[in-house]
Amino acid sequence: MTRYARPPLLQAGQLHLRVLATTDLHMHLLPWDYYADLPRPGVGLARTADLIAFARAGAPNTLLLDNGDILQGTPMGDLMAQGGLVPGTPHPMILALNSLGYDAATLGNHEFNYGLDFLMGTLDAAAFPLTSVNVALKAGSSPRADRTLLAPYLLLDRVMADVAGAPQPLRIGIVGMLPPQIMVWDRDHLQGRVTTRDMVEATAAFLPEMREAGADIIIALCHSGIGAAGASLGMENAALALAALPGIDAVVAGHSHLVFPSTAYAARDGVDVDRGTLAGKPATMPGAFGSHLGLIDLVLEPDARGWRVAQGSGRTVPVSATPGRASAAGRAVAQAARRAHVETLRQVRRPVGHSAMPLTTHFAMVAPVQAARVIAAAKRWHVAERLRGTALADVPILSTAAPFKAGGRGGTGHYTEVPQGPLALRHVADLYPFPNTICALQVSGADLAGWLERSAGAFLQVAPGRADQPLLDPEFPTSSFDTIFGLTYSIDLSQPARFDVHGAVQVPAAQRIGDLRHAGRPVAPGDRFIVVTNSYRAGGGSRFPGASPDRIVWTDGQRTADVLRDYILARGGLRPDTTAAWRFHPLPGTSVLFDTAPRARLLPDDSAGIDIEPAGPGPDGFARFRLRL
Ligand code: MN
Ligand code: MG
Repeated sequence: MTRYARPPLLQAGQLHLRVLATTDLHMHLLPWDYYADLPRPGVGLARTADLIAFARAGAPNTLLLDNGDILQGTPMGDLMAQGGLVPGTPHPMILALNSLGYDAATLGNHEFNYGLDFLMGTLDAAAFPLTSVNVALKAGSSPRADRTLLAPYLLLDRVMADVAGAPQPLRIGIVGMLPPQIMVWDRDHLQGRVTTRDMVEATAAFLPEMREAGADIIIALCHSGIGAAGASLGMENAALALAALPGIDAVVAGHSHLVFPSTAYAARDGVDVDRGTLAGKPATMPGAFGSHLGLIDLVLEPDARGWRVAQGSGRTVPVSATPGRASAAGRAVAQAARRAHVETLRQVRRPVGHSAMPLTTHFAMVAPVQAARVIAAAKRWHVAERLRGTALADVPILSTAAPFKAGGRGGTGHYTEVPQGPLALRHVADLYPFPNTICALQVSGADLAGWLERSAGAFLQVAPGRADQPLLDPEFPTSSFDTIFGLTYSIDLSQPARFDVHGAVQVPAAQRIGDLRHAGRPVAPGDRFIVVTNSYRAGGGSRFPGASPDRIVWTDGQRTADVLRDYILARGGLRPDTTAAWRFHPLPGTSVLFDTAPRARLLPDDSAGIDIEPAGPGPDGFARFRLRL
């Protein structure tokens, strides 16, 4: 503990302020995995709270801040939004934050997943103020003329002890911001109700006003990843560009669920991982789910107007560094969560049916696995029932699925793993962990081809005839690997990717998708189809050709996870489906390597027709497999 609790050395007249920060808690209050129904050490605010208690004990002056994405991310979050768990009590996350005495917070993009009314009602119980500078109920002619949803910034007046122990008044400015892309990601909730602005533009507009209002220092709660050094309008990951603004003294970053400082950022311009600074400003990005506590130590010294930052550094501490015994703060969080936890367990253990096969995403990046097929089948079933007898009844219905949990930066435990046998609601949540809703689009054959090219950007290009080449682009989120069921097609890995990982065209003529067929016949560019997807994709999320709001032909606003539950209930359970779907184009003599869960076993229903074998251990606890093309 002493390693991080030790305060910096101070000179006469100086003041040490320690900023403590959490980000992307995503409803992880207790160290429990509601999908697996097992303890999950290493996450949960109850554990982070132990670190908060120790960090507070090691510094005379502290502030505790949260950087957003608090309300969504576990079945407890979803159940709270569907009518609550413990009637008559505030949201357990808000109770927990209140119990820890948070000084201020900002919103994350996921705060909007359940709609604006739920969000604002939930925040009513917060005992701490919230800021969000770039979300407006009504846009004005400039950021300062906006009518913002929450306070654009906060001024916290605190009395802090200087190095001699003398009380000193300090006015701390806090400004919070989130990716403007919420208008795409939660379009169905937000369209016509709020607007967003660029994060850097909106923040810059308010900084002079904050100084004029007497802010001694200004801390940015930036619900955004680190991103590029130069600002570009509308950028999703803007923490580095934001840190460069004159007037910003410290930055809490997040959203990407990564850790800063860490060696992963060592080589970047404007980033100092030894000092923990972005553009010279102390910064921290404390992981996700309560995995880390962020710390920014600021040494302040008096100047003509008040106080200025003389030096500062940022770092993080993992919850694995907590001592064995829980602090009073940790017990308070556990207490705030207890009743909701018990009720969540009761609900997610409710039986819904039976599965004749295991459902895992272990091989979802290399084969049309059962865990993807059931999601696509449930969505198609739901829409087909509702379009019967309508003008769209004769249009072929296709359905998408992507592996939301498939390793990567989520780690070796980040997979959907549903055993064969009885199915409970927690298994449905494991298969479909996001609270988005079902949506049907009308698209052309050309759109389908583009959609699949976008997905095929998940893979690195391989040289034919060579052995053991890397398969997966680590920067590509598996949730963007949409496969479309109802079609057959092949993916030719010898070709370059048409799209980059963000969905921008990089090689316009590139074509990986081949032999695209529906019901055995080649798909022509002008053919008409209905594709069942979700509200995130339909709103334009992650930029897929053919997926945009103007293509929506049907939606009933039902949660996709509820559609899957109803499908299982209606059929009494799940049985294997091995009808033809997608495959890799054969490249004789060529093999690729990929990493997956150490528990991964080749299941006949998931690996039929493809040639995979174990290839030893991979890095970071993953297991390596070889695929022969
Ligand atoms: Mn997040
Ligand atoms: Mg986020």
